[in-house]
Amino acid sequence: NETVLSIDSLHVEYSTPGSNVRAVRDVSLDVARGETHGIAGESGSGKSTLALAILQYLGDNGSITSGTVQFNGTDLQELSESELRSLRGNDIAHVAQDAKSSLNPSLSVGEQVAETIQAHQDVSRSEAHQQAIEMLREVDIPDPEYNADQYPHELSGGQQQRVLIAMALSCSPELLILDEPTTGLDVTTQSKIVELIQDLKDEYETTIVLITHNLEIIAQITDRVSIMYAGELMEQGDVYSIFDDPSNPYTQGLLAATPEIGSDKAPTAIPGQIPDLTDLDDGCTFADRCAFATEECRTGSIAMETVADDHETRCRRWEAAVEDPIQPKRGTY
Ligand code: ATP
Ligand code: MG
Repeated sequence: NETVLSIDSLHVEYSTPGSNVRAVRDVSLDVARGETHGIAGESGSGKSTLALAILQYLGDNGSITSGTVQFNGTDLQELSESELRSLRGNDIAHVAQDAKSSLNPSLSVGEQVAETIQAHQDVSRSEAHQQAIEMLREVDIPDPEYNADQYPHELSGGQQQRVLIAMALSCSPELLILDEPTTGLDVTTQSKIVELIQDLKDEYETTIVLITHNLEIIAQITDRVSIMYAGELMEQGDVYSIFDDPSNPYTQGLLAATPEIGSDKAPTAIPGQIPDLTDLDDGCTFADRCAFATEECRTGSIAMETVADDHETRCRRWEAAVEDPIQPKRGTY
């Protein structure tokens, strides 16, 4: 399968007064054409930073300190600012985590979608407006002719999210990056957005990177997943293999912290918190929170190891973790 996105040993830092935040460390991942790749992990684990690094859009204080990002074989760090602008509009679309707040409150949603279309295609205003209505229909906005004339505040949160997805899709991107597309929506609306993403994936065969801390959504719609913790990948590969046989204590902990549908078993949160990314110790970043950690976990750097076909883990104690998982294996995925 053709590789669309290839990230190799990527490191990203933010410089802040007096210290450097090492937000992404040694991340390698490949996404094949048509694949939906999930990125999961607790708040602060570097998911959004990874998305911004792919887009070469880290802002003033963020930078890639080493490693590469390739899109269809092109090293994106070699591109000029104008080449990157064109890439971001035409080839890679990104719906940012706080995107709803970036909708213009004083412009109707139809006009906003039409503007994006006109920014990327040489079409008349009325043609762009017509296409905008069609895009709104594609993302299941009810009565798109009517709603195109509404302002963002006149739409629900779920509908605003659909408008953003419509804008992202309006230039037929090869790669769509969605950062927390369902956060802040109620469960029913969440599942409708998930259905929409599933439909788009089936219809357009778009390659998707889906960032969410919701493991249930990861299980429902992704093919492969990267589990991030404190800037590093802890476990990566085929989603079934990882969810059925998590070999990293962190993934086991995340799964145990996910409420099980229809079960009265209470989810258990992972104790402790993410380490200070400006002052990291040697050894495994998860050691302080890990039930399996021994002295050997607190030295050197921990490498990714292959545990099964398309399944890698960053843990020296993975065999112990597989032998006697923190929580019993869960059958609901
Ligand atoms: P969430 O689930 O809350 O969205 P995330 O996994 O997306 O979290 P990031 O937003 O990538 O995490 O943040 C990773 C780390 O980088 C955090 O410690 C965060 O505080 C830090 N960080 C992010 N942006 C900046 C910035 N512009 N300057 C300094 N530090 C930053
Ligand atoms: Mg984020």
